Amino acid sequence: MQIISSVEEMQSYVTRLRGKGQLIGLAPTMGALHEGHLSLIDMIREKSDVVIVSIFVNPTQFGPNEDYDRYPRQMEADLAACEARGADIVFMPDREDILPPDFSTYIEENEYSQGLCGISRPGHFRGVATIVAILFNVCRPDFAVFGQKDAQQAAVLQKMVKDLYFPVEILVAPIVREGDGLAKSSRNRYLEVGERTDAVRLSQALNIGKDIVAHGNLSVDRIKAEVTHHLSQSRRIRIIYVEIVDKDTMKPEREVRPGQSLLTLAVWLDQTRLIDNMIL
Ligand code: AMP
Repeated sequence: MQIISSVEEMQSYVTRLRGKGQLIGLAPTMGALHEGHLSLIDMIREKSDVVIVSIFVNPTQFGPNEDYDRYPRQMEADLAACEARGADIVFMPDREDILPPDFSTYIEENEYSQGLCGISRPGHFRGVATIVAILFNVCRPDFAVFGQKDAQQAAVLQKMVKDLYFPVEILVAPIVREGDGLAKSSRNRYLEVGERTDAVRLSQALNIGKDIVAHGNLSVDRIKAEVTHHLSQSRRIRIIYVEIVDKDTMKPEREVRPGQSLLTLAVWLDQTRLIDNMIL
C-alpha cells in the first residue's frame, strides 16, 4: 500500500495509472475509520483496479462552533485498517496544500443542500463539495463511493457531478450499523455509557416509521409524530429535524412513496450531533 501526502505526487501517480488503462476508485473520508468506512473500500474494489482512500479532516465543512479541533485523529490505526482491507493508496494531503492561505474558490450546490442539515449547518455542503471537487481533480477517479449514512451529502455530490460534468460515477454504500442498530459513526466515540444506551433510539425511531408504512399507512404527519414521540422519550435527545424527503432530491414528500421516500433525522444527544436515515 502506498501512502501519498503530496498533491503533485498523487497527480503524477494517477497519470501513470490512467496511462496503463487502470480504473481508479476513490473513497473520501475524514479518518477515524470504522467498519462503515471500510465497507466503502469493499464496494469500490468491485469496480476498480486501484482503490484510493483519502483521509482529510476538512476544516471548511465544520461550522465555527463545531468539533473540528476535537474530531478524532488516529493516523496509524487508520493506515493499518486500510492496508488490512486491501486499499492500494492512502492519500492524506496536508491542509496547507489543499487550502493554501490564498485559497478563494468554492463550489455551492443550491437545491438539494438547502433543507435538512443545510439549515442547521450553514456552509457545510459548500465545504464538502469544494473539497470533494479538489479530491476529484487530484485523484481523477472513475468511481467514487459515499455512504448512505450521509444521504444528503451523497445527493448533493451526485448533483454536483451531474451539473458540472465531472467524469466520475458516484456509488452509494448502505449504512453499516452496530449490533443494536446504531449507525456507525466516528462521533459515536464521544458518547458516554448512558448516552450510548439512548442512542439506540435513533434507529428504533426509523424502524417505527418503516413499520407504519409496512402496515399501509403513508401519512407523513403520522410517521413524523411517532418518530418524534419515540425520540422525545429520552431527556438527553433534542431533535434538530425529523423529515420525510425524496431520496434523490431531498425535497419534502407530501405522502410516503415506498422505496422512494427517505425518513431522515438529526438530533443532539447531549453535546453530540447524530444523524441517521432509512428508505421507507
Ligand atoms: P466521514 O469520515 O464521516 O466523512 O465519512 C466518510 C464516508 O464514509 C462518507 O461517505 C460517509 O457517508 C461514509 N460512512 C460513514 N459512516 C458510515 C456508515 N455507518 N455506513 C456507511 N458509510 C458510512
